[in-house]
Amino acid sequence: MKKLFGSWKGSLLALTLGFSFVLNANDVVEADEKSDLDVSRSTFSLTEERTVEVKADFGEDIELEDVEFEFGEKDLSEWKKWSEDEEDFDGEPFINVIEEPKFVDDTTEVQATIEFGLPFDTNDLSNRKIRTEYQQLIDDYELTMINAENGEEATATVELNVYDEFLFYDERKPAIDEIITKSNETNDRYVEYQSLGETTEGRELNFVILAKDKNAVDKYLNETLPTALEDPESLIDKIEDGNMGDYQVPIWFNNMHADEVEGPDAQIALLEKFAVENEVTFDMDEAVMDEEMENDAPFDKEKDITLDVDEVLDDVIFLYAFENNPDGRVVNTRGNANGFDPNRDMAFQTQVEPALIAEEMAKWTPMSYIDMHGYVDGFLIEPTTPPHNPNYEYDLLWNEMVEQAHSMGQAGMGNSNLDSYFMPIFDMESGWDDMNPGYGPSLAMLHGAFSHTVEVPELGQDSYNAMYGVGLGSTYYVTENKDKLYKNQLQIFERGVNGEDDRSVDEYLIDVDREEIGRLRGDNDNFFPDYYVIPEGEDQKSDLEARKMVNYLLRNGVTVEKTTKDTDVNGTMYSEGTYIVPMKQAKRGFVNAVLQDGEDVSDWDDMYDPIIVAFPVLRGFDAQEIREPEAFTHTTEVDESVEIPTGEIDENSQKQVLKNSTNDTIQIVNYLLQEGKIVEKVIETKDEINKGDLVVNTKDLLQYEGDYSFETEPLESSQELKVEQLKLPKVSVNGSSQLEYSVKDLGFNVVDDQADANVIVSDGKEFNPETLSEKSFVGIGSNTLDAVEESNLLPEFDFDITKDNHEGIFKAKVNDHILTSGYQEDELFYTTFGAWITSVPEEGEVLANFSDDDDFYVAGWWPGHEKAQGEVLAFTQKLENTDTDITLFANDLAFRAHTQYSYRLLANSIFDSSTEEIPDEDVEDMIEVFEDLKEAGEFEDDQSARSLKVHLSAVNRYEKKELDEKVVKHLEGFKVLLDHQQKENLISDKAYNILKEGSDNLIEKWE
Ligand SMILES: [Zn+2]
Repeated sequence: MKKLFGSWKGSLLALTLGFSFVLNANDVVEADEKSDLDVSRSTFSLTEERTVEVKADFGEDIELEDVEFEFGEKDLSEWKKWSEDEEDFDGEPFINVIEEPKFVDDTTEVQATIEFGLPFDTNDLSNRKIRTEYQQLIDDYELTMINAENGEEATATVELNVYDEFLFYDERKPAIDEIITKSNETNDRYVEYQSLGETTEGRELNFVILAKDKNAVDKYLNETLPTALEDPESLIDKIEDGNMGDYQVPIWFNNMHADEVEGPDAQIALLEKFAVENEVTFDMDEAVMDEEMENDAPFDKEKDITLDVDEVLDDVIFLYAFENNPDGRVVNTRGNANGFDPNRDMAFQTQVEPALIAEEMAKWTPMSYIDMHGYVDGFLIEPTTPPHNPNYEYDLLWNEMVEQAHSMGQAGMGNSNLDSYFMPIFDMESGWDDMNPGYGPSLAMLHGAFSHTVEVPELGQDSYNAMYGVGLGSTYYVTENKDKLYKNQLQIFERGVNGEDDRSVDEYLIDVDREEIGRLRGDNDNFFPDYYVIPEGEDQKSDLEARKMVNYLLRNGVTVEKTTKDTDVNGTMYSEGTYIVPMKQAKRGFVNAVLQDGEDVSDWDDMYDPIIVAFPVLRGFDAQEIREPEAFTHTTEVDESVEIPTGEIDENSQKQVLKNSTNDTIQIVNYLLQEGKIVEKVIETKDEINKGDLVVNTKDLLQYEGDYSFETEPLESSQELKVEQLKLPKVSVNGSSQLEYSVKDLGFNVVDDQADANVIVSDGKEFNPETLSEKSFVGIGSNTLDAVEESNLLPEFDFDITKDNHEGIFKAKVNDHILTSGYQEDELFYTTFGAWITSVPEEGEVLANFSDDDDFYVAGWWPGHEKAQGEVLAFTQKLENTDTDITLFANDLAFRAHTQYSYRLLANSIFDSSTEEIPDEDVEDMIEVFEDLKEAGEFEDDQSARSLKVHLSAVNRYEKKELDEKVVKHLEGFKVLLDHQQKENLISDKAYNILKEGSDNLIEKWE
């Protein structure tokens, strides 16, 4: 249901005006008999009880017992409360007449009072069951008084909303436009709307910049910020000397989770206030000070605050990102259209929305960043519990973040009925940490912002009011402390630019016993390397992923350089044009957070979510740390995105061997199979060609040259390879939407109905051996291992687990097997399942183990990981007397679309269960394949099939008589017939390709 924009701020005035007019004009109302209903209010709430006085005049003394009421053309008694047990609206009515109709004084005007109660019996709709239900009630409705005797009606259009300011996504842009118009009519402030780009489903990401004037924006982006990043010291000096003059710092308001609804609406109110008003007043409640809180609130405790908006805009530039997840806002879900949580993807950036938001965040480098969430137990404002990501300059953020949190909490309370707030850092032991830069606020901290997740406790009017207060309180704190805060942000950049590893950070980095561990420097003096090098060519595992990383870094505001001459560093030669990331730069914390492996924080008993980012490991490319100051003296800055390397084809050969080395290769193979082209898989390693590599026709591959990244070599016609022909796999995905996203991303043909599939891929909890007939099964992670074990299909199989969210990077030993094609013996893999396989059935073939090294566990949060040391990671097994392969992985191959390096393990398993033979033995062979194709309906009609069959039968006779020349001649004739039939569309591409390929094989044999 959509409601009309026009009523987003309901106007009582408009509804009461027409009453007397309608009476006078009674005669001309012909279209319908409705007159206006006079209502004392026109907005009703799902989270606040409200009563309304209604009046109508039917022009005569009507029978009061004949008066009836309708809401939305239904009798009031039909508006029933939600019943928790029935999960339906079948409780008591929530709209009731509480004062029966009566005449006003001695007139014919009839008056009554109606109460709109709480349809969910609560003013908090955050309960997950209710959260998906309430939006269907939001709409504009007709409230109608009826004289049942003659059917005469008086009506008013009223609005029922969850809270008065709630907007559906489609109402956001019109609301913004209206504010911009109002602002332009009342003052000279600069309000600019931008779309940051389109979401997965093509909606705009709304973004508004509000500043005192355009000059303020230009000055910040073109002068202040570049200087802050290049030469922060000069600005620090100016602040200290009081010479900064007129300058503004950016405040960013944000909302990630679309079903945590107050944030974007509170931002509309904040935008309107600061764009239109001269003054903004609000209350601040004195905080209920926790005894443990070491910091007293450092600001005035006066209750009434008045902000002079022009003075505020002398200090700040407001950036409103509203909702980061418009697709989710439309259907009221946390995740985006692909089922991804945007507040985990801000570092991975596999999804378009977080990627666009992160890019804009890097461009602005906000000083204050507030992410508006909802519905934990209580009114929560960060800072977080430890452990903290060591790449923050925590000492320069912490005090001020605590102070700002108090300011937001007090203003939140002052503007609502909430009577307390809390900060994880003081009120929780662990489990609400900022280790993962995939959270918006964590990413913003790496840009030097004072950042907070704010969680209002309830879904409803009161929490909306609190969230609006949060925006005011955060702004107030920034304007009162601008110089101090900006100096800290500049000092963060200064440490970066100077390559300083300041020990002041160390006291914030503690272990579970609250002992200081500081930054883990090992044998180095400096936690941060001098450079990261992203080599190319021989020293690079994946040129594709390396280049993608360069572009990612550029997009995120990182300085990347390129060597202008060959450079020797400690005996390693880096050729001219090598990409390097100098770590003496303002954003070096961000660089380290995404390129380093991360830390082992397994001593903590609770973490909020996985922490590993480690692009080189999880995307599969090489990036080397260089610890040698001034190692690269001849460099030039990379100032625009770099080209992604694409495959090059030597056309002097009919066939190509595609190396099984990139995810693009997997896509190409899938596309070729969908086009009915022949793709063969090499099944025996020979010379430079590995089993698992793929053989395709040169002419088929050409269309992908220039757009896709792949490695290919011409196949010499003399080279004999053992191959199998790939069949287009029909894949059913069971479990997470992220896994389905990855499988689709690889180009696989995903079918909706499991019955149509020949391969089932699952990370879910469901497993039914009876559905496996002639299908293969690829199972990933503990849920699936558990389901397979429970099914007792493989009695000898067993696994063990610490906990199903334990995660980390570990060393693996990979066995030589067609399913591990394209991987080395020693690899780093990733898990989020805390599981390992303890017993493999006798017929099972082990694909990989956790390494037996004592230091096999590299980084992450996996208490008890030592139990997995040396254990089995994955195995495959063919079920007796069936066509079914079962392949089980204890770890994650497709975690949130980030573990792209392990995608090919998944692809190998899928391809392996879907091959078909190309005839290469004799004509009998060929006839069998022909019959299969005919059965599968690959020929247009019987006639065309028959003529081919006649031809093949003749060849068969010559073959039996060993008449070599005749065999070859008639096979050539068969090919001519195939060409003809293809031209006339009498035969499918698939049948054509298989029979043509088969003929070539046999001709080669008989020549
Ligand atoms: Zn949230």
